Amino acid sequence: MRQQRRVSNQGRNKRVLLMAAALTLLTVSALPGEDRSSSATTKRVAAVKERLAADYERMETLYKHLHSNPELSLHEAATSARLAQELKAIGFDVTQRVGGYGLVGVLKNGDGPTVMVRTDMDALPVIERTGLPYASKVRKRDKNENEVGVMHACGHDMHMTVWTGTARVLASMKDRWKGTLLFIAQPAEEIGAGARMMLEAGLFKKFPRPDYAFALHCAANLPHGSVAYTEGLAMANVDSVDIIVHGKGGHGAAPHTTIDPVVLAARIVLDLQTLVSREINPIDPAVVTVGSIHGGSKHNIIPNDVHMQLTVRSTKDSVRKHLLDGIRRIAEAAAKGAGAPLPEVKVNPAEFTPALHNDPALTSKTVAVFKEVLGPDKVVSRPPMMGGEDFSRYGRARVPICLFWLGTIDPKRVAEAEKDPARPLPSLHSDLFAPVPEPTIKTGVLAMSVAVLHVLGK
Ligand code: ZN
Ligand code: ZN
Repeated sequence: MRQQRRVSNQGRNKRVLLMAAALTLLTVSALPGEDRSSSATTKRVAAVKERLAADYERMETLYKHLHSNPELSLHEAATSARLAQELKAIGFDVTQRVGGYGLVGVLKNGDGPTVMVRTDMDALPVIERTGLPYASKVRKRDKNENEVGVMHACGHDMHMTVWTGTARVLASMKDRWKGTLLFIAQPAEEIGAGARMMLEAGLFKKFPRPDYAFALHCAANLPHGSVAYTEGLAMANVDSVDIIVHGKGGHGAAPHTTIDPVVLAARIVLDLQTLVSREINPIDPAVVTVGSIHGGSKHNIIPNDVHMQLTVRSTKDSVRKHLLDGIRRIAEAAAKGAGAPLPEVKVNPAEFTPALHNDPALTSKTVAVFKEVLGPDKVVSRPPMMGGEDFSRYGRARVPICLFWLGTIDPKRVAEAEKDPARPLPSLHSDLFAPVPEPTIKTGVLAMSVAVLHVLGK
């Protein structure tokens, strides 16, 4: 009985196996694309995770090194040299000084699409207060000769680590993809100049022109292990405007003998508030912020000039033009009203960052892979925001782009902050912003590698 039963069990097992094999064949022939891609994704993920685990120590060491040694925009000499060394070591063909300290690495691996992965390299003039053992202690003089701290407060050190890690993973699994990798490290993102500089230096002419481009950015309010995305319009047009309000200086006790530029500047600040609230269609997002105002040196002196610095945000080119024209009109009208000389209104074209539009097709395809790999609850959609990112310029050069957000913060801490508004999370650019290295690096490299493999994979 026992024997017989065992035989019949074996028979049943064989039948089950045969049926499973037949079902697999059926599924493959019925839905070739979907099934193949799904099983291919599973295999790719396993391969990526294996290489990631083997290489992780090295990635964390690089992250801490970059975090402790930040460099300001346009000064990324040591950072780009280090990244060049990392890419050369794994077989990339590396070109340095492509637009400032811009760096381009190319890895060809047969016929197939060209995929660009971009990192930025620059840090911010911020004195770090995280108290981390690898916190930056760097001090530098800014262009006005003031001493400033330097900190990777926007997470560009994390972007570089993930970029390098992804390059290592992909270079070590060339049997699983075909095409060309174009890994670029961009300078001066924080001043909105780096992408333009690299494009003007011939990025898309001297090197293979990408069919797709990816980037990621740290998110300061998203749990590690998660990513977020925005399809279509994701970030705003950003302009920097300087206004020099001219008056006529004199004694503070004799205002009638002067034209007071402080009062005039105050009027301009208030008049500017009506630009967004009364002139722009409320359906169109717009921001005019006077972030800096400086004038005078002493209680009893009316100065000659006041200097104002504005950030101006919009999502449409027509709204952008209305805001920039309106700022000039309002400042000049206020000066005329006060009998003052015309103010100087300078829009700095070098610091313009165009709105960022994520290519809908590339983004939805990438998001579908992320959901499969990280889990649907770890991939969240985000509304557009009024921040700026010059990764948009590659999109304006007609390359389909996709920039996604990478979670960096302990999920418990994120939950606490959501419950208790008195304990908000430090934002990007804060002197307390501190991504948790291991889960952030691992999720970043996994997500970026599968995003690239999905468009290049065999
Ligand atoms: Zn930033
Ligand atoms: Zn940034």
